[in-house]
Parts: sequence; C-alpha cells; structure tokens
Amino acid sequence: MSETTIQDVVAYFNSIAPFNLQESYDNSGLIVGSPHTIVNGVMVSLDATEEVILEAARKKCNLVISHHPIVFAGLKSLTGAHYVERAIIAAIKNNVALLAIHTNLDNVLENGVNNMIADKLGLQEISPIVPKESEEIKAPVGSGCIGKLQQPMPVMDFLLFLKKSMQASIVKYTDLVNEDISTVAVCGGSGSFLLEAAKRSGADIFITSDYKYHEFFEANGEILIADIGHYESEQFTIPLIHNLLTQKFSTFASHYTELSTNPVKYL
Ligand SMILES: [Zn+2]
Repeated sequence: MSETTIQDVVAYFNSIAPFNLQESYDNSGLIVGSPHTIVNGVMVSLDATEEVILEAARKKCNLVISHHPIVFAGLKSLTGAHYVERAIIAAIKNNVALLAIHTNLDNVLENGVNNMIADKLGLQEISPIVPKESEEIKAPVGSGCIGKLQQPMPVMDFLLFLKKSMQASIVKYTDLVNEDISTVAVCGGSGSFLLEAAKRSGADIFITSDYKYHEFFEANGEILIADIGHYESEQFTIPLIHNLLTQKFSTFASHYTELSTNPVKYL
C-alpha cells in the first residue's frame, strides 16, 4: 500500500475547496508541519486546541485537520502564556501537524460547510447567497447558501425543527415576519455580513451565528434572523471533513475529536 503525505491531503482538499478561495483575513492551509511527512492518522476537529492536539497524539494521529485555523495573525512569542501558543507548542513537541480548511470550505457549495447545514434542514434547489467567480472548480462557489423547503412550514414549527436538527442549545431570533417559512438562507459561523444579500434573495429566514444586539435590529421587519451559535452552526463540518478523507484515503485512520471545543457554555 502506498503511503500518503500531508501534501497529498492538502492537494486533495485543494481540489474540493481551493485554498485560494479563502478570505483575506483567513489563514487556511498547513500551519505546522512538513508537507513531506507521511500521515499515520488524522484527528478532525472544529478547533485545533492544545487538548485536541494531545488527544491526537494519544491516538497516534500526526495530523489535526481543523475548520478554524488556530493561528490567524503572527505570533511574536511562544512562551505558553496564551492558548494559541500552547497549541503550537503542543503540536511541535508531539510531532502533530496542523492543517486548517476554513473559509475555502465555506465558499464552496458542493461538500462545503453550508451545504451540510442545507442537508440537515432538507433544503432543495440550493445556491450560494452571493456567488463568486472561480476558474478552478466547476461547482458553484460563493458565500452562504439559500434553498427551499420541500413544503412551507409554519414559522414556529420551523424554529423548533431548526433547533433540533442543528442540535442548538438556544436559538435567538427576531420578530416573526411571515406565517410560513419556505425559502431559507444559511451561513455557518459569523454570517451577519450576508444579511442584506439574504433579504434581496427573498429568504424568509436567515440562519447564522454571532449576532450582536444592535445587529438584530437590522432584520427591520424584512426577514427573520435566527442565531443558533457559532459552534452549533459548524459542528457538522467535522463529519463532513472525516467523510471526505475516508472516501479518498485508506492508508491511515481518520478520527473525530471526542472533545467539544465550544468555548461557550449554556446554563
Ligand atoms: Zn467558524
């Protein structure tokens, strides 16, 4: 059986969600480790925290693939005083490489973060809320995802269905606008930047996370905003990445982290 290098894994994800589709503030790609290292095992997580890296090392995984890059901006010291430094120190000490697949995976519809949410909600005829040009892949590219329910659903029924389907602890939402929900816009993670586009696209509801108090007012009686929590909106990205890996590679095992890296707790 031939061996797989980290570079092979990076190239595979680049074919699904090209890394140059990432947003300018992002840091997707290989963050720690050599591309030439042979992959023994992969641990998939939303966040590459120190705890997840140590879990990977215990399970003989020498690569952590996370949705969020642990390092966004440059580090000036590695003293272990900050959680990002502790993660990098743990990765280097334990020979665990770190790969992040973040906004490039947000920006592809097929096999992307928002496609996963759309599937959970049973949306059909899906397309990006804001399409982007891409010469690299044939599939639709862009921010967010909009689609239709098979049948319109009474709005409160839909909110309960949303909470259950996305395993959300709470759903924060604005004034109800329409009696029924038929067109649904979603954006995993912090999606408030897509609100006006979601309104223009005719969505009855916009589902995302990280809404602030004043931003909720921007619903403006034109759309229903539902904030389901950042971790909750993206948690199914873990099985998504795992499934993509197991479809392609058989030379190493891929595991989900058993830890929740959600920094937010609920009473
Ligand atoms: Zn996120």
